[in-house]
Amino acid sequence: MSAFEHTNEFLRRAFRVMQLGANMEALLLSPRREVTCQISLERDSGELCTFRGYRVQHNDSRGPFKGGLRFHPAVDLDHVRSLASLMTWKTAVVDIPYGGAKGGVDCNIKDLSERELEVLTRKLVQGIHDVIGPQRDIPAPDMGTGAREMAWIFDEYTKLHGFAPAVVTGKPVDMYGSDGREAATGRGVVMATRELLASMGRTIEGATFVIQGFGNVGSWAARLFHESGGKVIAISDVSAGVYAPDGIDIPAALEHVRSGKTLDSLADGSSVSNDELLRLDCDVLVPAAVGEVITEDNAAELRCGVVIEAANGPTTPAADDILMERGITVLPDIYANSGGVTVSYFEWVQNLQHFRWEEDEINGKLDRVMTRAFAPLTRISGDRNISLRTAAFIVAIQRVGKAVLTRGLA
Ligand code: NAD
Repeated sequence: MSAFEHTNEFLRRAFRVMQLGANMEALLLSPRREVTCQISLERDSGELCTFRGYRVQHNDSRGPFKGGLRFHPAVDLDHVRSLASLMTWKTAVVDIPYGGAKGGVDCNIKDLSERELEVLTRKLVQGIHDVIGPQRDIPAPDMGTGAREMAWIFDEYTKLHGFAPAVVTGKPVDMYGSDGREAATGRGVVMATRELLASMGRTIEGATFVIQGFGNVGSWAARLFHESGGKVIAISDVSAGVYAPDGIDIPAALEHVRSGKTLDSLADGSSVSNDELLRLDCDVLVPAAVGEVITEDNAAELRCGVVIEAANGPTTPAADDILMERGITVLPDIYANSGGVTVSYFEWVQNLQHFRWEEDEINGKLDRVMTRAFAPLTRISGDRNISLRTAAFIVAIQRVGKAVLTRGLA
């Protein structure tokens, strides 16, 4: 099953409860627009290289399209479609006025110099600038991209269309970015975890955490779990994982990574593979790297109490069934990692207002959004005896479906 089919399978599970009818289901399943473009690049060596750039706009019934840009070798149209659809449901679950989109380039950033990355990013903008814009479609960072790339996008788009900082979010704080945006996805993950654990009569304090991925999302989540009294016993990046049953020194690991090193050279705990890490005994497992890591091959062997989907699409539908049967609660990606797009929304609002909010105001607003969005998920899941994921899709589909009909189909 492809990544897009995985997402659609989760949607169909909600459709079966909702009985919307085949025509509305078809409308909600298929993306509104798909753009692919060629990105040619003259390497520093003089060699010519060609990549594919993508932007898939899934649904804009509730507001402009919104979603990140991923630079990763596995990027293809199918993955981008899947991620674009997830954005539609994510923005609806937390009830922010956006639709869903996603984009990316099939490149390996480790092979590219800073100059090459800048040219590639600007060429992507040249390929998609007609379909993005502050009131149309607003990209943001995802795997392999960050504030630096967002500043290049702002600059390139501004050259073509005039000054428009609101065309992209996740920009550097001193270049029309927002305080709190860099930490927002990880912070939202921690708030979502707090809500789930509270609904089970538990707290972050004293719980054990295993986190796969130590990039933007995983490292911020690790830091904030640690600061909230949680014990992070294993972390990993693409190079390796480390496991220390008494707890990893998270500030030291952050410093290690900040100095440009990978986790295979961290002198803490014992080494584990990314696959072994998923099977470690813990209270909370947080996949925060790539998709499709919890599959029918390992779901029966997970030894966690709950899974918090910080990554997009980390659990396949077959694995989801196995976890449900085993009584392992999964907090779905479309809610768990929505802190990033929520603070992106705050950044966009600040840009449109030409006004700056303080960081504690932003974190407070984020907390209110995450807390408010959680309540209907547990209520619907409990009332109908369905997973939190299906409950989250039901909430999102109701909002998007209503917007489609209210705006009219003519
Ligand atoms: P990132 O590029 O900053 O970090 C990714 C991390 O995953 C790195 O530590 C990398 O070494 C590791 N990694 C890469 N491939 C791996 C593999 N095969 N096995 C184990 N680890 C691997 O990316 P990010 O922004 O932290 O995004 C991580 C996940 O969170 C993605 O699924 C992304 O879609 C999702 N997400 C990100 C944001 C955001 O605001 N950045 C928002 C919502 C969701």
